[in-house]
Amino acid sequence: MTARTIGVEVSCDGPDEQTDCPDSAAVRAAFTSMTAKQVRADGREDGWTTRRVPGHLRDMCPACRSHRLEP
Ligand SMILES: [Zn+2]
Repeated sequence: MTARTIGVEVSCDGPDEQTDCPDSAAVRAAFTSMTAKQVRADGREDGWTTRRVPGHLRDMCPACRSHRLEP
């Protein structure tokens, strides 16, 4: 970690409900991204996905997303 986080942090919720992200990944947000919506847009450019599940959103980093696709 380098700079202090300004605004929101969108972190990976892991490949599934029971498993935390092995990398504890978080979206590298652009300097101008201050809201969760903006940060998630940054994440999508890096391959992150956001899934809507009952009650909340689950954010998934590219590593967990590909893990999830493996048989
Ligand atoms: Zn992850």
